[in-house]
Amino acid sequence: MKKRYYHILIAVILAVSLFAAVLYAEGDDLSYSMNGDGSSYSVTGIGHYWDSELVIPESYNGLPVTSISTRAFEQNKSIVSVYIPDSVTTIGDFAFSGCSKLREVRLSNSLVSMGKGAFYNCTALENADLNGYLSVIGDWAFWNCQRLKSVSIPGSISSIGIGAFSGCTNLSDIRINDGLSSLSQYLFADCTSLRSITLPSNVASVGEYAFADCYGLEEIFFRNSHVNINGRAFYGVSANAHYSCSDSSWNEFNFSGYGGELRWVSHTNTVHFNAVAPSETSPGNIEYWYCSDCGRYFADAACTKEISEFDITISIVDAQRGDVDGNGVKNEDDVLRSLYHIFFGDAYKVNQDLDFNGDGAENEDDVLRLLYNIFFGNDYPLS
Ligand SMILES: [Zn+2]
Repeated sequence: MKKRYYHILIAVILAVSLFAAVLYAEGDDLSYSMNGDGSSYSVTGIGHYWDSELVIPESYNGLPVTSISTRAFEQNKSIVSVYIPDSVTTIGDFAFSGCSKLREVRLSNSLVSMGKGAFYNCTALENADLNGYLSVIGDWAFWNCQRLKSVSIPGSISSIGIGAFSGCTNLSDIRINDGLSSLSQYLFADCTSLRSITLPSNVASVGEYAFADCYGLEEIFFRNSHVNINGRAFYGVSANAHYSCSDSSWNEFNFSGYGGELRWVSHTNTVHFNAVAPSETSPGNIEYWYCSDCGRYFADAACTKEISEFDITISIVDAQRGDVDGNGVKNEDDVLRSLYHIFFGDAYKVNQDLDFNGDGAENEDDVLRLLYNIFFGNDYPLS
């Protein structure tokens, strides 16, 4: 009895392993079709492939596998990862759309074209490392890939389809390399985790609704000298929009239809200088900000109060107490300037503090003290 069971067991094991060996040897679990060129294959579907880790082979029947067909793995609910070999240059429309378990994808380093909706609604997908040969990404290619955190768009890409990354609600790191000249409609709409975006110098136009409802967006950096922003491109967005001051064609008033609330910020390469008191041997300066892009000087960090380079220097003569306008003479003009400064603020600049009576405050009493000092001399000293 024992011996008989033993033989049956051996036979079963042999049969199973032979069957498996045949499957592996053939490598034809997936389904394929020959391409029109007669010398390469496309993967058309899952066939009898059973592993959740999908590995697409480089070749089939001795010929290279160069593409993944339209809708090849659409709505597959078991694939967790996919390896696409470097022989593949094309991923067809909706090839992996709705693959809700798909987490990891290794894209071919030779990929040139990714079809419409290629990874549409792949809600578990965590990465998409796009290579440097890719030239086309179709419409809605990564729509609603909610777990995608970062994407770097290579400079080889000339065209990205409508809404390709819209609804990627965890996408917080988007790098756009120089190459792409326009952003399509809805491209990054609803990317609510995005905080900051830099549009490199090649980007000359931003499509309608391209960043619509990106509620997290705080800083937008435009590197082109002039960008054509289409209607509602920033619908629902409230952010600082930084642009170059060195090109006069940039005019924030040209852009009224972008939808959100953009606070236009220019002079973004400023250097801050602290106030330095003049000494007996060298002049000092007031606190100021210098923009290296346009060579202009400002009295505030936001660069709203432009001053001239002559305004920043406090000469040794200027250091004379009471000569608040720094013209080398202490007179009624300084009294007026002090009064105006106290009432109207920095629009009337002074080169020193105005606490002439030394009571710790700057007010009308100090202006009176200065007036008395000018008329009656050192009976009314300036502190
Ligand atoms: Zn500037």
